[in-house]
Amino acid sequence: MRAQLEGARREGLERQLEEQLLDTLIGRAIFPRYAFPMDVVSFWVSKPKWKGDPAYKRSFDYEPQRDLQIALSEYAPGSSLTIDKWRFKSECLYSPYAPDVRLTLERAQAYVACTSCGYVSLTEESESLAACPCCSTVEMFKHRFITPEGFAPDMNARRDIDHGQGPSYAGRTTRAQLEVQDPPTMWDAQYFEHRLAVAARPQNLVVVNKGVGDRGFLVCPDCGRTEPVFGPGFPYSVLMQGGTPRRHHHPLEVGVFCDARAVGPYYLGHRFPTDVLLLRLRFAAPVVCPTADTPGRSGRPGRTALTSLVEAIALAGSRILQIDEGELAGNWSPVLGGGENEVYMFLYDLLPGGAGYTRLVRDHIEKVLEATEVLLAGCDCESSCYRCLRHYGNNVDHPSLDRRLALALLRYLKNGQQPALSQNERQEALTWLLQLARLKELHATQDAPRNGVIVPLVITRDDGSEVWVDVHHPLVDARAAPSLVQATAASHFVEFCPLDAFTLRHDLPRAYGALQL
Ligand SMILES: [Zn+2]
Ligand SMILES: [Zn+2]
Ligand SMILES: [Zn+2]
Repeated sequence: MRAQLEGARREGLERQLEEQLLDTLIGRAIFPRYAFPMDVVSFWVSKPKWKGDPAYKRSFDYEPQRDLQIALSEYAPGSSLTIDKWRFKSECLYSPYAPDVRLTLERAQAYVACTSCGYVSLTEESESLAACPCCSTVEMFKHRFITPEGFAPDMNARRDIDHGQGPSYAGRTTRAQLEVQDPPTMWDAQYFEHRLAVAARPQNLVVVNKGVGDRGFLVCPDCGRTEPVFGPGFPYSVLMQGGTPRRHHHPLEVGVFCDARAVGPYYLGHRFPTDVLLLRLRFAAPVVCPTADTPGRSGRPGRTALTSLVEAIALAGSRILQIDEGELAGNWSPVLGGGENEVYMFLYDLLPGGAGYTRLVRDHIEKVLEATEVLLAGCDCESSCYRCLRHYGNNVDHPSLDRRLALALLRYLKNGQQPALSQNERQEALTWLLQLARLKELHATQDAPRNGVIVPLVITRDDGSEVWVDVHHPLVDARAAPSLVQATAASHFVEFCPLDAFTLRHDLPRAYGALQL
């Protein structure tokens, strides 16, 4: 059998024989998926071949390994990395253990995710969804994803010396996501008048790299050459030219060309079972934590609050368990039918196979939440810094961490305390809108007395009509909790516009648009 195999297949077999993996090979023929450690992959840098070398002989200069979750960012085709002072660009999917990329493509799985609320499903049926089952958004990410067995540079590419460049990325992996699912029938414990419920259980999580501009990756099924889909951020395609396939170098053979047509686009992804601590958060009106963008309201404050709180809990949890920061990670997901009143957060440990940390966090959840509150309240930064929420492991999320929103969310969960703004915060939040209104030569007055109330902002149109603006906490639904200003405006038939402090600070055009001037 060995003599009948050719090319890449023979190479793979020789490699396995060399490493005395014959037993595994036999096992793999029967159980193709489970016999290999799937969570670690390499970046294979082939040595140049010599004339007279047998076609199946291949050896490597370098073969660094990475956990697949990280490799999906660092080794993804299109990204560059430095190994031993050399600069390499990843250009194909390759592993000597699984040299046939077609098999990787055959195992592609469905990935359907809402662009708005965090809904994710990997079921085949979800591909026919016309809208998000959680928030009804019509736009969904729908691409199949493949799980690479390894990556490699193009052997034909010149080796450049590293000049101190950092790694460059072709898309980054998402935070781990939890598939939306039926809720557990039993929770392990409930706290704080059922605002919090917890359950530790094994779950599948998924991470994907959607490529540059979320456009996915094209893969040549013959030679394994892979690249992000052409467009802004990736303007040089090797596989395609003007929409037609282009002859390209076989990345694993020197001077050999490949004429095959690339297929895709695919996301690169990894679905893995791990121990998860699920936390169900419940809100009662007027407190809300919407994650979806709807015409009347942005989901960004809700998403920011949840991401920040789960990061804080992971950090506080790892300190209580005395493990390294970043060994616990987490994210949140919407609940099917939960609307704005229910959401899940989850924690998982990043050690392959799980180390039981999530159960320990569950057993000490009240202590962990105490420490979380101390962590969030004990800083004086505006939104986040290295003394509170930031660490190297969450650097991608630094711009979207907000300790004060997380604290408001946590204090509501623990004490039922409705989030509120101080007089000072209210005034601060209006600063930029006031400036903008004046730039547009509108008459705007802050803290104006009207009919016995102080209106935080009054904008007067040229015709003399007024719009009264009040500011509320982003985790409070203004419609469910009318302020005194709102009630007074209603009784005097004055136009009224409630704005939340987060949108005023982070999305001024949206806030201005809501005034409908
Ligand atoms: Zn959605
Ligand atoms: Zn090819
Ligand atoms: Zn801070």
